[in-house]
Amino acid sequence: MRIAIIGAGYVGLVTGACLADFGHAVRCADKDPAKIDALQRGRIPIYEPGLDDLVARNMAEGRLSFGSDLCWAVEGADAVFIAVGTPSRRGDGHADLTYVYQAARGIAQALKGYAVVVTKSTVPVGTGDEVERMIREARPDLHFSVASNPEFLREGAAIEDFKRPDRIIIGVEDDSARAVMADIYRPLCAGHAPLIFTTRRTAELTKYAANAFLATKITFINEIADLCEMVGADVRDVSKGIGLDTRIGQKFLDAGPGFGGSCFPKDVSALIKTAHDHGTSLRIAETVAEVNERRKRAMSRRVIAACGGSVRGKTICLLGLTFKPNTDDMRDSPAIALVQALEDAGAWVRAYDPEGMEQAALILNEVEYAGDPYEAALGTDALVLVTDWDVFRRLDLKRLRDGMRWPIMVDLRNIYSSTEVEAAGFLYTCIGNGRSR
Ligand code: NAD
Repeated sequence: MRIAIIGAGYVGLVTGACLADFGHAVRCADKDPAKIDALQRGRIPIYEPGLDDLVARNMAEGRLSFGSDLCWAVEGADAVFIAVGTPSRRGDGHADLTYVYQAARGIAQALKGYAVVVTKSTVPVGTGDEVERMIREARPDLHFSVASNPEFLREGAAIEDFKRPDRIIIGVEDDSARAVMADIYRPLCAGHAPLIFTTRRTAELTKYAANAFLATKITFINEIADLCEMVGADVRDVSKGIGLDTRIGQKFLDAGPGFGGSCFPKDVSALIKTAHDHGTSLRIAETVAEVNERRKRAMSRRVIAACGGSVRGKTICLLGLTFKPNTDDMRDSPAIALVQALEDAGAWVRAYDPEGMEQAALILNEVEYAGDPYEAALGTDALVLVTDWDVFRRLDLKRLRDGMRWPIMVDLRNIYSSTEVEAAGFLYTCIGNGRSR
């Protein structure tokens, strides 16, 4: 099949490369000329494990190409996927649909024959209706369908998630769209990924409900972690103890500095706004957003307390800046609030992240960036583990400690055990362990 993807960011690029790998002919268009220029020269503008090989192979075999011109991408396509960003609208927390509607208008002008326009971007309930209305208004005689196919991939494991998904959700309003979507995903159905056909509005809401539920799970265990600290319990064991119950499940039960990233914060906020727009409220989601926001800044108070009550004039080493490992994505990372709060309290921050420093430098310009964890820790007054990259799990603790001015470690990801870190001479604080405080 011939497929167009509008937006070559994390989702568009992974979707395009994977669909090409299934044998479809894929053209990706992006309005950012620098991104397209890099992709055409074989450079991947984001860090995502395995993506460079997948893109290179499918480009070489002629199934995947990139361009700036939306008309070129859409020409002759059976399906056009909209995979542009839907950030939080400044000021009110609604999803900003500017890019989606721009893309829809462009597609309306470019289509020459029947195609399914598919929203892959995370969009509020009713957006598909609006996209359909816009295209119909611009092209009253055009035969087309609008479908919703939300994406559930995780950055850092995006290719695996796309190729071996737990489920594929497709919202359609007519049989033609259903047939095209079934053809596109046929290679995955052979691998028994459940293809769930539903209405467009149900598909749109399913994505938000999934993200809000996962954000709730994280926030729940974070609050339990706080209670563990008060009562002398250990959240790691509580988490294991509840997670082994298959009704609960072990994933998303790691206590930490609060959720961040390009999806959870904005999607929880947009879902709350959707509920308000419909005269109702989602009180659990509202509480999750509020508790998480407070938590991100509260992490700095832990660091300050570990440093004896003040960080003024001290240098704090941060290991990890991205919101999770295996990505360079810094959007809404808990590290941002932490750095800002530490700097507000008078500290200097030195940091190392395996992939995120280029993006981080665009936001956090007072931070000094180091070439490796040991250089980052050298001469500092405390070390804070912010992201659980694998390289931080096997650090030479004695070497780290020997380079530091004060041997203080605040482990916001519970990577280490207190026995191990204290044996290396550190004063250790982690999350949700009543005995380490
Ligand atoms: P992104 O910011 O990485 O990429 C969006 C791309 O769209 C950018 O390259 C931008 O230049 C391009 N673009 C914007 N308007 C355009 C237009 N009119 N024509 C052509 N290109 C245009 O965003 P992302 O992280 O890939 O997210 C895309 C959508 O997918 C969002 O709705 C997001 O919520 C959702 N999503 C993201 C993830 C994730 O892990 N990143 C996972 C699931 C769903």
